[in-house]
Amino acid sequence: MASLSGWRTLPPGAVILEPGSSVKYKTASWRTLRPVIDQEKCIRCRLCWTYCPEPAILELEKPYTAKSGRTYKVTYEIDYDYCKGCGLCAEECPVKAITMVEEVR
Ligand code: SF4
Ligand code: SF4
Repeated sequence: MASLSGWRTLPPGAVILEPGSSVKYKTASWRTLRPVIDQEKCIRCRLCWTYCPEPAILELEKPYTAKSGRTYKVTYEIDYDYCKGCGLCAEECPVKAITMVEEVR
């Protein structure tokens, strides 16, 4: 884990000087549960992507063909570098395609 700098090193007002700098700070280290998406159950409704507060759900232009033969143009995946394991996505998924499992490190 990177060492934290003291408050004296912050710019006045703690303003963000570099756009997009939050990408550098991976926020997943304290996660205790991890969401796992069952691609077979997922109906690509996008609700998990909409509700994720990080956002740690990736909407990828990656076709997926289910066992039923139906092909989807997009695939939703979790970005485990930023997912904090809050479980909102699993709570909101209308078809229960997301399961929260214990994080193992
Ligand atoms: S568990 Fe929370 S942070 Fe992680 S992907 Fe789901 S909604 Fe986003
Ligand atoms: S909420 Fe569930 S069904 Fe909808 S895109 Fe996310 S994983 Fe798929």
